[in-house]
Amino acid sequence: MLHIGCHLSCAGGYLAMGRQALALGADTCQFFTRNPRGGSVKPFDRADADALNALTREHGFAPLLAHAPYTLNAASADARVRDFARRVMREDLERLAHVPGAMLNFHPGCHVGQGTQAGVRLIAGMLDEVYTDELPTRVLLETMAGKGSEIGGTFEELRAIMDESRTGDRLGVCLDTCHVFDAGYDIVHRLDDVLAEFDRIIGLSRLRAIHLNDSKNTMGSRKDRHEKIGQGEIGLEALVRVINHDALKDLPFYLETPNEPDGYAAEIRMLRGAYAQA
Ligand code: FE
Ligand code: FE
Ligand code: ZN
Repeated sequence: MLHIGCHLSCAGGYLAMGRQALALGADTCQFFTRNPRGGSVKPFDRADADALNALTREHGFAPLLAHAPYTLNAASADARVRDFARRVMREDLERLAHVPGAMLNFHPGCHVGQGTQAGVRLIAGMLDEVYTDELPTRVLLETMAGKGSEIGGTFEELRAIMDESRTGDRLGVCLDTCHVFDAGYDIVHRLDDVLAEFDRIIGLSRLRAIHLNDSKNTMGSRKDRHEKIGQGEIGLEALVRVINHDALKDLPFYLETPNEPDGYAAEIRMLRGAYAQA
C-alpha cells in the first residue's frame, strides 16, 4: 500500500488533524510543530496527543512527520538565533516523545557567510546538545534546494553533519523532490543514478521520508518553489516513477504542494491510482 499524506495544520488539535488526514484519504500527515515563521507554541495537550495516537493505531497510519519551524537556524552567526534553535528543537523532541513513531524533520540551516564547514559544525553541535539518547523520535535532515547559504543542497553536506555529530547514527534524511531537483539532481531522467549517489554518500537505509512535490522552476535553479503534482517542471510521469521505485515505494510520502484540502485529496487519490500494487 502507498503510504501518503499531506501537510496539515495542527492548530485545531492533534486529533482533529488526524481525522482530517483520514477524510482526505491519507494514512499519515505532516504538520508544523509550532508557528513556522515565528516559533510560538500552544501548551502541550497530552490527552489530545493520546487521542491522535489511538486514531493512528486504529487506522494503521504510517509515521507522522513533524516539521520544525523555518526560523530554526542552528548555523546562524547570531548566538540568540542559535539559542532559539536549541530550545525549540529540545522542546519539540520532548513533546514528540508522546507521539510514538513520529519523526521530526528540519532544515539543516543557513551558514549566512560563515562557510559550509562552520555551519555544519554548529548544526552538529546543536544536535549533540539537545538530541539526547532518551528521546525516541527519529530526527531527519531535509535535502535542500541550496538557495542562498542553505546547507543541505548536496548529499555530501548532509553526510558531513552526520559525520560531525555524535548523534549521527540516529539521524535520517527526508528527501524533498522539489528541493533535490532545484539543487541540480536530475530525478526526471536519471532517478536511478541519483539514488545510487544518495546510497554511496549517505546510505539508502538513512532515507526515511519523501516530500513529494513538483517544482515551479527548472533543474538546478536553486529556487525552492513547490508546484502541484504534474503541473511543474518535474512532471507527473517522473513523480509516479518516484513513488513506484523499488528503493522508495515503501517509504511514507508527504505532499507539500500548494493546495487547499480538496486539492490534496485529489492528488492523494490520483497517486494511489498510479501506485503499482505488488
Ligand atoms: Fe521543509
Ligand atoms: Fe520539503
Ligand atoms: Zn521547499
